[in-house]
Amino acid sequence: MFIESFKVESPNVKYTETEIQSVYNYETTELVHENNNGTYQWVVKPKTVKYEFKTSTHVPKLGVMLVGWGGNNGSTLTGGVIANREGISWATKDKIQQANYFGSLTQASAIRVGSFQGEEIYAPFKSLLPMVNPDDVVFGGWDISNINLADAMVRAKVFDIDLQKQLRPYMESMIPLPGIYDPDFIAANQEDRANNVIKGTKKEQVQQIIKDIKEFKETTRVDKVVVLWTANTERYSNVVVGLNDTMENLLASLDRNEAEISPSTLYAIACVMENVPFINGSPQNTFVPGLIDLAIKRNSLIGGDDFKSGQTKMKSVLVDFLVGAGIKPTSIVSYNHLGNNDGMNLSAPQTFRSKEISKSNVVDDMVNSNAILYEPGEHPDHVVVIKYVPYVGDSKRAMDEYTSEIFMGGKNTIVLHNTCEDSLLAAPIILDLVLLAELSTRIQFKAEHEGKFHSFHPVATILSYLTKAPLVPPSTPVVNALSKQRAMLENILRACVGLAPENNMILEYK
Ligand code: NAD
Repeated sequence: MFIESFKVESPNVKYTETEIQSVYNYETTELVHENNNGTYQWVVKPKTVKYEFKTSTHVPKLGVMLVGWGGNNGSTLTGGVIANREGISWATKDKIQQANYFGSLTQASAIRVGSFQGEEIYAPFKSLLPMVNPDDVVFGGWDISNINLADAMVRAKVFDIDLQKQLRPYMESMIPLPGIYDPDFIAANQEDRANNVIKGTKKEQVQQIIKDIKEFKETTRVDKVVVLWTANTERYSNVVVGLNDTMENLLASLDRNEAEISPSTLYAIACVMENVPFINGSPQNTFVPGLIDLAIKRNSLIGGDDFKSGQTKMKSVLVDFLVGAGIKPTSIVSYNHLGNNDGMNLSAPQTFRSKEISKSNVVDDMVNSNAILYEPGEHPDHVVVIKYVPYVGDSKRAMDEYTSEIFMGGKNTIVLHNTCEDSLLAAPIILDLVLLAELSTRIQFKAEHEGKFHSFHPVATILSYLTKAPLVPPSTPVVNALSKQRAMLENILRACVGLAPENNMILEYK
C-alpha cells in the first residue's frame, strides 16, 4: 500500500512551528586491537551515541543557476521541469505521454515506513522531510554559447518534436548569461560555440559571477540559490604547492591571474565567497585542495564530482552484488560511444582523461571490502573507452563485460548493453542534487559530546548516491556501492524525524 504522507509520533520527535527536532540513538561500534598476553586480537564493542537533529521546515523559494545552462542537460532539465509544472502532455508515435519525474530519487522513489495489517506500507521519498517542490524552482545560469533555451533544446535533439513545440514559448526568453571561457581547459572543438564570454582577469571574472548571482536573486526574488556545473568536462588542473594547495595560495594565485586556475574553480570560488552551495557534475578536479580549504573555512557547501547516471551506476550495483556474493570480478571492460556535444568534447585526450579517472575508482571500496577474494593490493583489470560517434546523438551506448572467477576456478562472464538518452538520465539527478543540497543546509545536528549544533561538513558526502566520484572531506572513507549510498541518505533523513534506519530485519514476521 502507498500512502502520500505521514507524521511521526514519538517522545523523540517534536514538531515546532519552525522546525522538526529529533533525538536519535546512533548504534555503532568501537574497535580495539588488544594485546592479550602477546597475541593481538580485535575486539568490537557496540556503542550508542545520542544525536540531536533539528531541521528547519521553512522551505525557501529556490533559484538554480546552471553553468552550461544551454547544454543538453541544462535545456533538458529546464524543459522537463516546465513540462511537469504546466502539466504538459504530448503525442509520441506510441501514445500520449505525460510529463513525469522518473529517474529522480526525491520525486519518483519510495521509502518503506512500516507494516499495517500484514501489508508493507510505502511513502514517497520526498515525504520524509519538507523539500522544495521542483515545480517552484526558478532556473537561470551561464553558457559560453548565447542561444536561448528553446533553441538549445532543439540543438540538443532530446525531446520529441510535439513537446518541443509546446515548450518553446516558455523557453524562448531564457537566455544564458555570458560564461567564463578558457580554451586551454576544454577541447579545441568547442571554440565555435564560445560567443558569450566574460572578459577580464580571473579575479574580474569571479567578481562578475558574484554580481550575476546577486542580480539573479534580486530579479527572481528567490530566497536561496544553488549553483551546479553541468558545462563541458575540463582537463585536470595541475595541483601545485604554492599555487592552489591552500586557501591562501589559491586566492593569491587569483590575484596574480595564474593561468592554471580553471573556469570551474573560478565559479566555485565565487559561490563559496557568497556562501552559495556549488555542485560539480563533471569529472574534472574543480575542487583543488585550496578550494576545499576555502569551502571548509567559510563553511560553504561543495559537492561532486560527476553525475552517476548510467554505466557507473550499473557498475556500483553489479560489483557490489558480485563481491557481496563471494564472487571475484577479475576484469571489467567498459566501452561507450555517444554523439552529443559532451562526446565531442571528450574526444580530446585531456578531457577524456578526466572522465577516465572519475570512472576508474568506482569499484575500490567493494574490492577492498573482501580480502577472501583479493590479496592486498590486488585489483581487477579495469578499462574504460569512450568514442565519439555523431550519428547516435544523445542516445549513448554503454557496453560492459564483467569477467569473474567463481567456484573451483570456473569463470563467469556478464555482458551488458545499455542504450539511453544521456540527458534524460542526468536531468533528474541534477534535480535531486540541488534539492538535497538545499535540504541539507536546513539540517543542524550535534552528538552528545558536542556543545553546539552545527551543519553537515561543507563537503557534502550526503550527495554521494548521485555522483560517480564522491568528494569526501580529508581522511573520510569513500563509499561507491549504490545501495550503501542510498541507505546512508535515506537513514540520515529518517533520523531527522526520529525514525530508526531501515534494517530490513522484518522480525515481526519471523
Ligand atoms: P553539453 O556539451 O550539451 O553542454 C555543456 C554546455 O556547457 C554547453 O552548452 C557549453 O556551451 C557550455 N559550457 C562549456 N564551458 C562552459 C563554461 N566555462 N561556462 C559556461 N558554459 C560552458 O553537455 P551535456 O551533455 O549537457 O553534459 C554536461 C556535462 O555533464 C559534461 O561534462 C558531462 O561529462 C557531464 N555528465 C553528463 C552525464 C550525462 O549526461 N548522463 C553524466 C555524467 C556527467
